[in-house]
Amino acid sequence: MESSRRRTQCSDNGRRPEHREQLGQWGRAWEVDWFSLICVLGLLCFAPFIVFYFVMACDQYRCAISQPLFELLRGETAPLSIWARTAPFTWSAARMYAAWVAFQAFLCVCVPDVSHKFIPGYVGGVQDGARTPAGLVNKYEVNGLQCWVITHALWAANALYFNWFLPTVIFDNWIPLMWCANILGYAVSTFAFIKAYLFPTNSEDCKFTGNVFYDYMMGIEFNPRLGKWFDFKLFFNGRPGIIAWTLINLSHMAKQQEVHGHVTNSMILVNVLQAIYVLDFFWNEAWYLKTIDICHDHFGWYLGWGDCVWLPYLYTLQGFYLVYHPVQLSQGHALTVLLLGLIGYYVFRSTNHQKDLFRRTEGSCSIWGKRPTYIESSYRSTDGATHRSKLLTSGFWGVARHFNYTGDLMGSLAYCAACGFEHALPYFYIAYMTILLVHRCVRDEHRCSSKYGKDWRRYTDAVPYRLIPWVF
Ligand code: NDP
Repeated sequence: MESSRRRTQCSDNGRRPEHREQLGQWGRAWEVDWFSLICVLGLLCFAPFIVFYFVMACDQYRCAISQPLFELLRGETAPLSIWARTAPFTWSAARMYAAWVAFQAFLCVCVPDVSHKFIPGYVGGVQDGARTPAGLVNKYEVNGLQCWVITHALWAANALYFNWFLPTVIFDNWIPLMWCANILGYAVSTFAFIKAYLFPTNSEDCKFTGNVFYDYMMGIEFNPRLGKWFDFKLFFNGRPGIIAWTLINLSHMAKQQEVHGHVTNSMILVNVLQAIYVLDFFWNEAWYLKTIDICHDHFGWYLGWGDCVWLPYLYTLQGFYLVYHPVQLSQGHALTVLLLGLIGYYVFRSTNHQKDLFRRTEGSCSIWGKRPTYIESSYRSTDGATHRSKLLTSGFWGVARHFNYTGDLMGSLAYCAACGFEHALPYFYIAYMTILLVHRCVRDEHRCSSKYGKDWRRYTDAVPYRLIPWVF
């Protein structure tokens, strides 16, 4: 505790909180309020159980989400009997998981990107991240698309030719793999926490609140790294979890074929729509360096455990559900889901693209056929330097302040609607994404308000709605 206090003073340069806005101390909080602390403790205690509950409900109750809870409450089932029926940790799953993570780390760190030399329009190779609050600009090796292609080419080669493993291997080891993902998630978060005290990558960008739970959850180091190129945020955010997303879906599809003898149109829709989202992520990985995850969040349990466990297990619930319930949609339903997914994707991508284009060209571009309108703004980094920036007020950024989130939510709803309306479980994703993105929107606006001060208020006057005009 004492050392954390010392560090707080050290990173804060002895300045009082009210001066932080001017001095560029934006980003995650310095002081923890009671509400945040309760949320942090709640998530630390319950998030792993939520993941377990959903997976167990499918595995033992055919995805009837309320049934285990009612049985437990009525005393018809004991928690220990649920536990006894749950697949245990296995060393074969641990070996598989270790090989997977090691292979992704190898691809990420040891195979520099060559694909940007051949693929027109793709931005890869060494790229700059955003300026950190301490004024640093980190370099990143952007090779996610290449890693995704190599991994999926190997998966396809195995399925079509080599047969080293069954394409259902992920589904077949889903629960043992979950224990391994938890071990990695906790290990990496704990390592990052200790590293921040003992050998931080850049101590000027560390934040210590003095509250051990908050610091563990929200992270202390901003951009922890091992060596020059192993960046914790880029790797855990983008590699083992998101590359696995499409493979997990393919494994669910293979399992549906194995169990039911056919693949349903709903499973194809989920695979296609989510693959578009994943590929979009890797195609735009250089842009992703400028998003909140990389350029504002510190690396703690929220990102470390979240990327290892929450993302692969809960973002893929739809495909998992469809193995137990092979829903065949009517043509009209399938078409509606497809349209909703594609329109959502279009809104999401165009909104993100507009901001990226606008920021890259410093406003010298055309948005919806016109010169963009914007608000000139300024902010200061910790070194006291003043930087200029611009806040776009045209295109989708003039419709609402986070219309990219609205598009994302439309896409998320499409994945859920692909599963029909018989069970609530696949709809967890849209409920979760709504909470995540609304919270993120509020968090981001709070940060922007600290960063830009009165310029941000001018922007919110010009664009008064957050997600949906006249609603929110
Ligand atoms: P944004 O891409 O919306 O970035 C917000 C930042 O953009 C602000 O902090 C500010 O940064 C800048 N900004 C805000 N308003 C303007 C404006 N009018 N003009 C120019 N710049 C502005 O947010 P995210 O990084 O959260 O999201 C990126 C995408 O990732 C979104 O589409 C989101 O839906 C998606 N996403 C998906 C998740 C998932 O789990 N599937 C999770 C999180 C995000 P600055 O300091 O540079 O001014």
